[in-house]
Amino acid sequence: MLMPEPDRATMARRDEIVAALRAIVPGGVIDRAEGMRVYESDGLTAYRQLPLVVVLPETTAQVAEVMRWCGANQVRVVPRGAGTSLSGGALPLADGVLLGMARFNRVLSIDADNRCAVVQPGVTNLGISQAVAHLGFYYAPDPSSQIACTIGGNVAENSGGVHSLKYGLTTNNVLGVEIVTIDGEVIRLGGRHLDSEGYDLLGIVIGSEGLLGVVTEVTVRILPKPATARAVLIGFPTSESAGGCVAAIIAAGIIPGGMEMMDRPAIHAAEDFVHAGYPRDVEALLIVELDGPKAEVDHLIERVAAIARDQGSVTLRISETEAERLIFWAGRKAAFPAVGRISPDYYCMDGTIPRHRLPLVLSRMREMEAVHGLRVANVFHAGDGNLHPLILYDANKPGELERAEAFGSDILRLCVEVGGVLTGEHGVGVEKRDLMGTMFNESDLAHQQRLKCAFDPDGLLNPGKVFPTLHRCAELGRLHVSGGKLPFPDLPRF
Ligand SMILES: Cc1cc2nc3c(=O)[nH]c(=O)nc-3n(C[C@H](O)[C@H](O)[C@H](O)COP(=O)(O)OP(=O)(O)OC[C@H]3O[C@@H](n4cnc5c(N)ncnc54)[C@H](O)[C@@H]3O)c2cc1C
Repeated sequence: MLMPEPDRATMARRDEIVAALRAIVPGGVIDRAEGMRVYESDGLTAYRQLPLVVVLPETTAQVAEVMRWCGANQVRVVPRGAGTSLSGGALPLADGVLLGMARFNRVLSIDADNRCAVVQPGVTNLGISQAVAHLGFYYAPDPSSQIACTIGGNVAENSGGVHSLKYGLTTNNVLGVEIVTIDGEVIRLGGRHLDSEGYDLLGIVIGSEGLLGVVTEVTVRILPKPATARAVLIGFPTSESAGGCVAAIIAAGIIPGGMEMMDRPAIHAAEDFVHAGYPRDVEALLIVELDGPKAEVDHLIERVAAIARDQGSVTLRISETEAERLIFWAGRKAAFPAVGRISPDYYCMDGTIPRHRLPLVLSRMREMEAVHGLRVANVFHAGDGNLHPLILYDANKPGELERAEAFGSDILRLCVEVGGVLTGEHGVGVEKRDLMGTMFNESDLAHQQRLKCAFDPDGLLNPGKVFPTLHRCAELGRLHVSGGKLPFPDLPRF
C-alpha cells in the first residue's frame, strides 16, 4: 500500500521540529524509537510506521500552538485517540507529527436537565456512560471497543455499535465539538442546544477521520437508561430465514434496541470461548433486544417471537433475568477475540448493504471463500445491514495476508454492487482508500476534496487517508483528462 512519499527536507529538520514541540508541550514529547513503538500502528496492525515524533498535549492552547507551528512550517500531523481504528486512520507518517490526545481525559460537566455532558476527546466511550450512570443516564453509541476507544476517535470515525439501530450513530448523539484547525484556529460547532444556524459544519466534522481538524472537546447527548431490557436468542436453519426475520421485524414497525446476527463459524467460536448457551446446530443466530417500559418490552418480545416462528426459527429463548440477557450478549460481544482463538490472524471488514440483500451477499461470500482459499466468520449489525466479515488467515504463511486483502476488497466491491456502501462505522482510512473509486467518480471525489481544502489547503492533516489521489487544492475544479493524460503528473497518485 502506497503512502505519501516522506518529505526528505522535513525529516532532515527533525531536531528542530522536536525542539519546537518541546517548547510548546514541555514533558509531552516522545522522540526515541522505543518510546514511539507503541504508536506505530492502530487496530489495522498489518501496517506499521514509526512517526517522526509523538506529541501529547494537555490543553487546547497547546494543540492550537502545535497546529499553528506545524501549519506554518509545512509539517504533516496525524491525530490519534486510543489507536483502535480498524481502517488505519491513525497510521503514522515517517515525516509527520503524531498528535496523541490521550491526556484529554476529563469529563468537564454533566447537565442532566438538558441531557448532555461536555467531555474531553480522550475520555473513553464507556467512561462517559460510567460518569453519568449515577444519574440514571448513559451514552448510547456502544462500539465493541468501548472500553478502550475515545470519544474523539468516535467523532472522527462516526462510530456505531449494537444499539445504533434504535439510537443512532455518533452523529446522532453529538451536539457540539470544539476543533482546532491546521492554522491553529479554535472553532466551536454546535453546543448544548439542538441544531445550529447556518451550514451543518458539525455534520461535516463528524466522520471526517482527522482530515479537517483536531477535536478538543465534545458535547454528547446522554439518555435515561431504559427501565427494562430483554433479549431473545433465535436460531435459524439458513441465513436466508434469519435475514427474512430481520426484514419482517422491521416491517412490523418494531425497532429493537439491537438486532445482531452471527453465522455458524462465529456461533461456534463464540460458544467455545464464552459458553453462552448458543445452539450449535443452526446456520444463523439472531439476538434481538427490546428496551423501554416493562409492559411495552414484554408485549414486543412476544411479537418478535411470533414473527421468528413464522419465519422458520428452530430454537428460541427469551431472557427471563438480567443475568441471562447479559449472557446472551456475552458471546456476541466477545465474538472478535473468540475468532482470534480459531485463527492466527483475522481481517475484520466493514461494509453496509440494504438489509434485503443479506442472503445474497452471504451466499456470494461463501463462493468467494473457495476462490480465495480462505474462510470467513460473519458477525454483523443485522438491523442496520452493517456486515463485519472476519477473514481468517495466517500472516506467517507467505501470500495469505495479500489473499485476505484481495478477499476483503471483493467483499466491499460486492457491498457497493448490491447498493450498499464501503463502510458502516470503521471509516475509510488507508484500508478502503483505494476502493473509493468503486463508489465515487472523479467529480464526486473532487467535490469532497474541495471541502478538505477549505479546512486544510496544504493537505497537512492526516494525508494519505480517505482520498485515493492527492490533489493540490489549486488544481481542483479543473480536473480534465485530456488525451488520456492526467494534469499535474508529478502529484502522487496512490
Ligand atoms: C475489537 C474492536 C472492536 C471494534 N468495534 C467497533 C464497533 O463496534 N463499532 C465501531 O464503530 N468501531 C469499532 N471498532 C473501531 C474503533 O474502535 C473505532 O473506529 C473508534 O472510534 C476509534 O477510536 P480511537 O480513539 O481508538 O481512535 P484512533 O484509532 O486513535 O483514531 C481513529 C481516527 O480518528 C482520528 N482521531 C482520533 N482522535 C481524534 C481527535 N481528537 N481529533 C481528530 N481526529 C481524531 C484519527 O486520526 C483516526 O483517523 C472496533 C475496534 C476494535 C479493535
